[in-house]
Amino acid sequence: MYKKEEALHILKHYFGYDSFREGQEFLIEHMMNGQDVFGIMPTGAGKSLCYQIPALLMPGITLVISPLISLMKDQVAALNQAGVHAAFLNSSLTQGQYLTALRYAKEGRYKIIYVAPERLLTESFLGFAREAEISMVSVDEAHCVSQWGQDFRPSYLKIAEFFNYLGTRPVLSAFTATATAEVKEDIIALLNLRDPAMITTGFDRVNLRFCVEHPRDKFAAVTAYLREHEGECGIIYCLTRKVVEEVCEKLIKEGLEVTRYHAGLGDEERRRNQEDFIYDRKQIMVATNAFGMGIDKSNVRFVIHYNMPKNMESYYQEAGRAGRDGMSSECILLYSGQDVITNQFFIEQAGEQSEFDPETAELIRERERDRLQKMTYYCFTNECLREYMLRYFGEYGANYCGNCSNCLTQFEEIDVTAPAKAM
Ligand code: ADP
Ligand code: MG
Repeated sequence: MYKKEEALHILKHYFGYDSFREGQEFLIEHMMNGQDVFGIMPTGAGKSLCYQIPALLMPGITLVISPLISLMKDQVAALNQAGVHAAFLNSSLTQGQYLTALRYAKEGRYKIIYVAPERLLTESFLGFAREAEISMVSVDEAHCVSQWGQDFRPSYLKIAEFFNYLGTRPVLSAFTATATAEVKEDIIALLNLRDPAMITTGFDRVNLRFCVEHPRDKFAAVTAYLREHEGECGIIYCLTRKVVEEVCEKLIKEGLEVTRYHAGLGDEERRRNQEDFIYDRKQIMVATNAFGMGIDKSNVRFVIHYNMPKNMESYYQEAGRAGRDGMSSECILLYSGQDVITNQFFIEQAGEQSEFDPETAELIRERERDRLQKMTYYCFTNECLREYMLRYFGEYGANYCGNCSNCLTQFEEIDVTAPAKAM
């Protein structure tokens, strides 16, 4: 049974926080009362604590299924540092290390075990799981189970099967930051969540002003903006390395304090440029979507998308790097028809190199096309941009936010027919 004081005590004792964020307590309470849960919260909202706290309160072990080795390592390191007995089981361990960790797990040394989905149905892991007292299974990045999702992983489909091998059914909790209607339905069905308590929270970032523009000359639009906002920190996202190079070079010629980041640069240069930006030595970062993961710079005043990204998930995540300090900030998307073509090209190309069988690859491509279309609608809609975005993520806003380019210029005509000559 859920006891608020206990949960708050754990929150303070292990994690050092005094209060829950939106949605956390709701989910924890339901897990503690034995119900499955499904939490849909944006990146940075605090999904990990939602399963880590009940894991510490429940009598048995919690298994956390996570798609990325690096993510598991970080989380386990942080938990160990906080004094929680946790471990991970994945392919980064040698066979010897793996068997030792499994033996320790059998001896009950760990409260939380991160496990890669591919391991679940192996003989050795099942041998452990059948014997152990497993109170909960938590599925992080649960959208990986869905072919509608951004990063479909077939091994996530093994999770539901894994439950068949367990004597008693543990609580199942699932978390994601992506949840279009299709993905949500898939997660519930494919993980076999039973009557889950669901919550979608916190996608609205009220201090961000969202704007879409269709400029005839993107570069001129960007330089004009930067001149008006001198001294402010911002990121300019471009779709390709080539555009990053072009924009960066031209801005330097304009005498602006600019640096750049993309996967084509060497490690050393990437690190240096990133630090120049983080420590305010360079105010403007021109980058591909390779930039930003795990970067927590609070005073980013604007994020300009020089090109339309491939879908709303990417846009939300990248634009969301603005205004982490809560101060008003701007997210400006500069649309051109060429952006659609470039993204279409990427989708078809990725399809050709797909690791999946042709049918699955085509299905995934279909869905990518569908997401691209919804991204494109965002650039053409007359309705409130915030409302459009929130609805995409399954939340409901008012249909007038008063702080997006559509709400602010409802009666202004935009010339969308002008030939796009950017890029
Ligand atoms: P998500 O998985 O949703 O992207 P994380 O679980 O990685 O987010 O958490 C993001 C950050 O928020 C972490 O640094 C975490 O410690 C912090 N955090 C989570 N819950 C709280 C809380 N109740 N109070 C303060 N900080 C919190
Ligand atoms: Mg997370």
